[in-house]
Amino acid sequence: MSSSTEKSITNNLTIIGSGPAGLTAALYAARGNLNPLVIEGFPPGGQLTLTTDVENFPGFPDGVMGPDLMIKFREQAERFGAKIITGEVTKVDFNSKKLQLFLDDNTIIDSSSVIISTGASAKMLGLQEESELIGKGVSTCATCDGFFFKDQIVVVVGGGDSAMEEALFLTKFAKKVFIIHRREEFRASQIMLERARSNTKIEFILNSEITQINNPKENKVTDIIIKNNKNGESKSMSTDAVFIAIGHIPNTSLFKDFLNLNENGYILTDEGTKTNIPGVFACGDVQDWEYRQAITAAGSGCMAAIDTERYLSNL
Ligand code: NAP
Repeated sequence: MSSSTEKSITNNLTIIGSGPAGLTAALYAARGNLNPLVIEGFPPGGQLTLTTDVENFPGFPDGVMGPDLMIKFREQAERFGAKIITGEVTKVDFNSKKLQLFLDDNTIIDSSSVIISTGASAKMLGLQEESELIGKGVSTCATCDGFFFKDQIVVVVGGGDSAMEEALFLTKFAKKVFIIHRREEFRASQIMLERARSNTKIEFILNSEITQINNPKENKVTDIIIKNNKNGESKSMSTDAVFIAIGHIPNTSLFKDFLNLNENGYILTDEGTKTNIPGVFACGDVQDWEYRQAITAAGSGCMAAIDTERYLSNL
């Protein structure tokens, strides 16, 4: 029996997620008269809304701010009729004849097709205290929280492009930025690594991992314990903030009972963006563990819209 507050929508195409993949899919689908409905999750606009300068998106020779780029994506999709609503998909049912999506406001969407572009979320270190200190000195977003650490000491964890980017951004505010990385080799691109290395505010602490972040009782970070992986020695270090930049986990928990995922939880796609369920397509970081760029996400969003159009016209 349905609750009195339930609302049902029957829809042609529903797109879950509003990053570069989802909004490009929405743009192409809207222009193809598929009447797409986009459920924008959090953060709306995806990971690019949490970043600053994007220098590698073609068409912007002087770079563009991530949030500004996402506003343009959104406006372009809406211009052609894409409908975007804020909401969280809490459950899906891909077993029934219609593909069903259940939203947090009790809306049930019966959709003929679904494009999944839920992206990926920041990985955490797994320390008990880090969740208690999120927003109180522990952060996964320098753009969002760097401003709060003006003239303070901060650490960034990781050895990839994200860690370099976060550290470089933080030098605009902090008086000292330490990059803590668990080994000596870096995943970061040479250009980003060199930029970090040549910044006098940045210092590297290698072969080291954070084993403890103190002090939750005061609701702010005061110091951390770092363990040297080579000699096993631990030492305390004062810091005002810990920025974690160690990669991402795909947002696929909603789909694990229905879709084929790889061992790391990414959606497996075939023949373009098709999943194992007819009518369900996936694009962007949720199915791309290799390239993970805004431009590749946008490209796969375009592919998903074209694949969906072909699927719907063959129904
Ligand atoms: P990534 O390349 O996977 O790097 C993650 C880093 O975190 C690695 O150095 C890894 O160490 C470390 N790490 C992972 N788990 C850890 C743990 N539990 N404890 C300590 N360290 C841990 O991830 P990313 O830096 O987020 O980059 C992802 C993709 O986005 C890349 O393709 C990157 O090029 C791209 N990206 C591009 C830009 C840009 O061009 N402006 C900016 C950001 C990201 P190990 O090396 O030892 O595994």
